Amino acid sequence: MNADTELRYDFIAPQRIVFGWGRRSEVGKLARTLGRRALLISGLPPAVGETVIAEIAEILRAEGIESVPLGAIDHEPEVADVDRVAARLRQQNVAAGDFLLAVGGGAAVDLAKAAAAMATNTESPSVKDYLEGVGRDLAILRPPLPVLAMPTTAGTGAEATRNAVISSYDPPFKKSLRNEQLVPRIALLDPELCVSAPPAVTAASGMDAITQLIESYISRKAQPIPQALAVQGLRLAMPAIAEAVEDGTSRPAREKMSHAALLSGMALANSGLGMAHGVAPALGTICRVPHGEACAVMLPAALRTNRVVCEAQLARLARHVFPRESFASDSRAVDALVEEIESLCSRVGIPRRLSQLGVKAEQIPDLVKNSRGSSMSGNPRELSDEELTKILEDLL
Ligand SMILES: [Zn+2]
Repeated sequence: MNADTELRYDFIAPQRIVFGWGRRSEVGKLARTLGRRALLISGLPPAVGETVIAEIAEILRAEGIESVPLGAIDHEPEVADVDRVAARLRQQNVAAGDFLLAVGGGAAVDLAKAAAAMATNTESPSVKDYLEGVGRDLAILRPPLPVLAMPTTAGTGAEATRNAVISSYDPPFKKSLRNEQLVPRIALLDPELCVSAPPAVTAASGMDAITQLIESYISRKAQPIPQALAVQGLRLAMPAIAEAVEDGTSRPAREKMSHAALLSGMALANSGLGMAHGVAPALGTICRVPHGEACAVMLPAALRTNRVVCEAQLARLARHVFPRESFASDSRAVDALVEEIESLCSRVGIPRRLSQLGVKAEQIPDLVKNSRGSSMSGNPRELSDEELTKILEDLL
């Protein structure tokens, strides 16, 4: 947002956000405000998930809430996953008083959000028909079941967004189910739940949050509230990510990363994203690169590509992130930001080159063709296919 821009915006967020170490103990009382039967989706690995889900089910039972496990997910949700869970929901004859409870990373939360919508919107048995630009383009007409999201990773911010990202590998696409009613009703963030996330997951999801904060800040659709959130999120996350990766039990690092990830979700839901998130879905479906790593590997290139049109904005952000530095020029400030992002990626073990993630030169034309989704439309600069090809070749 520029100082002379007319103030005019919408802002959406979960109806209720509850944040704090150990506060999963409050899930029963919170859930009571949504209904009497919890349809549970877990994104935790079985060894951890069993204990956590049993603990949550017990807290719910004490409040008179029945839990129905709908299954677990260990990968980014695909069309078939959503369709299967939605079919199970329909078999359960869902009605008023039922709600979805997701305990997991972005995959579980997005699966719950999509299934909640498919449970009440039954014009097609497949979510594909409701995704942007790949099926019949059906609209979500009826309110989805309410969703209570309990993230166990700090990254996607899916607990605060209005879309659910759904993949397909044959044919390859990664598209959003998008509607503002998809925003979870309650986001319950207990950073202690993230302690079990292994270092590689903590690194990739944390870099995803950082990418979301930066891209939403400089997005063509940037808005004032998300920009304020992005500043706070980055000031917390950039100094904390390495500690969260290196000492997963660090309470301050986990708290800062969870809070920053939540802010990144609110920021992206209202401001859109940019080039790194524009290319990430194609890297996911064509080269099977996980979302967080895809964003992190693209972020420095996105900053270098975009700085020519948003140097002042990026410099402002850099001065917030490094409050004790006095930079001689905007250009120096942006250099420092880009260098810090690159050094964080190296420190937390994110590959710096696409080839290290298995990307092959012959896949680049396909990557370029499939990078034109909604995230790219927020990129500060218009990129031609030739420019994007060159950017990807240079990163190989
Ligand atoms: Zn992301």
